[in-house]
Amino acid sequence: MTKSAALLSQCVLANQTGDGCAWCGSPLPKRRRTWCSDRCADRFWHNHWWSLARRAAKRRDKYACRRCGHKPPKRTDPQYRKRRKTERLEVNHIEQARGAHRSLSCIHHLVNLETLCVACHKDETAGQRQR
Ligand SMILES: [Zn+2]
Ligand SMILES: [Zn+2]
Ligand SMILES: [Zn+2]
Repeated sequence: MTKSAALLSQCVLANQTGDGCAWCGSPLPKRRRTWCSDRCADRFWHNHWWSLARRAAKRRDKYACRRCGHKPPKRTDPQYRKRRKTERLEVNHIEQARGAHRSLSCIHHLVNLETLCVACHKDETAGQRQR
């Protein structure tokens, strides 16, 4: 069993019937073994692989902080380079990732991610430590 197959067997988002596409359950076209389409493969990766999930979360949140609505400076902003350091967006795991950033994991499901500005992320991380 490959790593992703082991993960899929426990993933709440995946198709658990054992038939058809591992993501949506549609019948598999000839020569496809796991996913019915690239779209389903993409959705799997965007919910399980951190660098892709992070990007997907920002897109979903329309590139703004979910708490305060802050938006990072545009590239065309003359202060862009300076402001970017303190005003960039980060993506927070609602349920903590605990070092799983580099592995394929259900902790990166899009529902577990929220886009935050640096300030809100700091508040959030401080809160998590206290808990
Ligand atoms: Zn599918
Ligand atoms: Zn914020
Ligand atoms: Zn999953």
